[in-house]
Amino acid sequence: MDAAEFRVRGKEIVDMVADYLENVQKRPVYPAVQPGYMRQLLPEAAPETAESWEDVIGDIERVIMPGAANPACTELEMIMMDWLGKMLDLPEQFLFCSGGKGGGVIQGSSSETTLICLLAARNQAILREKEANPALSEADIMAKMVGYCSDQAHSSVIRAGLFGAVKIVLLPTDEQQSLRGETLAHAVQKSKAEGLIPIFVCATLGTAFSCAFDNIEELGPVCSRERMWLHIDASYAGSAFICPEFRYLLSGVQFADSFNVSPHKLMRVTFDCSALWLKDSSKLVNTFNVDSALLMHHDGEGKITDYRHWQIPLARRFRSLKLWFVLRLHGVNGLQEYIRQHVKFAHEFETLVLTDRRFEIVGQVVLGLVCFRLKDSNAVNEQLLQRIIQDGRIHLVPSKIGNTYFLRFVVCSPDAGSKNVQFAWAVITELATDLLKDKKY
Ligand SMILES: *Cc1c(COP(=O)(O)O)cnc(C)c1O
Repeated sequence: MDAAEFRVRGKEIVDMVADYLENVQKRPVYPAVQPGYMRQLLPEAAPETAESWEDVIGDIERVIMPGAANPACTELEMIMMDWLGKMLDLPEQFLFCSGGKGGGVIQGSSSETTLICLLAARNQAILREKEANPALSEADIMAKMVGYCSDQAHSSVIRAGLFGAVKIVLLPTDEQQSLRGETLAHAVQKSKAEGLIPIFVCATLGTAFSCAFDNIEELGPVCSRERMWLHIDASYAGSAFICPEFRYLLSGVQFADSFNVSPHKLMRVTFDCSALWLKDSSKLVNTFNVDSALLMHHDGEGKITDYRHWQIPLARRFRSLKLWFVLRLHGVNGLQEYIRQHVKFAHEFETLVLTDRRFEIVGQVVLGLVCFRLKDSNAVNEQLLQRIIQDGRIHLVPSKIGNTYFLRFVVCSPDAGSKNVQFAWAVITELATDLLKDKKY
């Protein structure tokens, strides 16, 4: 949708909302539908090709309004999480349509999803340890709990540990910044020898530093063996798994207890929309279910999905609407194309870096992020970034792995094109030439 169409559609939506408010008195107070009504009205999977705006907006009255805010808000979210889960080719166990305990929920951020999964892991471990040793108090068990992630994991994992009062151990990665099974297995042995109780592992697919991928095929069996909750943080990179050519990075996902991707990062959905799937949602529900008489208000209580037990807030936004719109207005093909374009531009930039002998690539370019640096000291690279910032034509964020400081080029605008890549590289090389000249004298 271009800016001109957005102006028209935006105004139409304002009219729709105003009409609704003006006529709300004429609408029934209670929805006249039965729980589960929406499944019959919607297809089982996202459309392959884009649908028209008229078709999508027309479905508001047909699909959403009969179910008002509830149950429509819950039901659309369940269906959208199944659509998206199928697009990613997640194992059936993570989906509602499997008829098992699995299912997905939309949260505000990846940080929240890591936290609630850590809390569910904690709860699961407390129950298990108490059963094994009734003399232990909850405080005894809590004091011994430990979780793991790589030293490349997002800071939100450490924060989850702080919120949840679980010690988090940062593990070293291999030369590709990937956390390996052996490393985890050794760390677990060491913790156990110290009398600690390993409960949780957060693996990252697409680290924020350099878009590196942990080896979940190796980590998974260690987690199963040691009965640790495996959470996968694929906040940024996860959207790419809608393209079959990137799915090899997801192999091992069957070992996970929970899997997170934020479509607001690489799939055109506006902030905030962070998707979380669980293999056994009852573990989350049992952790957070504090029913009060005020909230026991419907016949379906306990029988239907009650998302308030899956999250920190009680109230919820209708976030699945924007996912529904994006999936239909672009279609699976359109979104795949969008991601492939991003990756293509990243590789275009990578090629430019590789053809200039003053520069080198750091790590591997897999998706939309290119890590690069001048083949020079960290200080010189820091100066280059300073000059880029002062110059003001482009924006780059640096990072550091071990002792190597580098710059990061990331494609993230829906309108990004080859000309932007060429422009950015022209600015960088111009400023690098100046810097290296100044350095000489
Ligand atoms: C962006 C990102 C996060 C944090 O996401 P929020 O939604 O802002 O909490 C966590 N992990 C990874 C790998 C990320 O890329």
